Amino acid sequence: MKINGTIINYYFHCKRQCYLFANRLNLEDNSELVKIGKAIHEQKSSDSDNSEISIENIKVDKITKEYLTEIKKSDSDINASKWQLLFYLKVLKSKGIIRKGKLECVEKKKSDNKVYYFELTDEIEKELEFHILDIKKLINSESIPTVLNKPKCKKCAYYEYCYI
Ligand code: SF4
Repeated sequence: MKINGTIINYYFHCKRQCYLFANRLNLEDNSELVKIGKAIHEQKSSDSDNSEISIENIKVDKITKEYLTEIKKSDSDINASKWQLLFYLKVLKSKGIIRKGKLECVEKKKSDNKVYYFELTDEIEKELEFHILDIKKLINSESIPTVLNKPKCKKCAYYEYCYI
């Protein structure tokens, strides 16, 4: 499987989730949380003229003159979302399209909505390339990473697979 934004996100969220997803053990369609995330995506994207644009193997939510915007249902794993967005900026850059990144987190209460901004500097791009190499190694490995045993597992689409 080609590296995409979801794989990057999972790598930072949980290496086991990254491995399982990239090796096509996809249990996500049954997850309530994934459905909520998709519904928010669809709603927000339909509010915009520049909604869901596909470039190579990535789908970006919105592009304006200055920003590429990614929409998430919460900022519970901001680090994973940040690297996913940086990966999109890198793919765009490889096509000659230079943008800054904007991450919109749509919380249950509208007043809690948050916006974060990121830029792909040369240094960050090098770090990202290092992570991409590590991800390739991880998903081609013979062994599945161990279970995390963290509270976030309860919200994960792979919970039953990992614990039951
Ligand atoms: S349930 Fe936990 S260990 Fe299993 S894939 Fe999800 S986050 Fe990772």
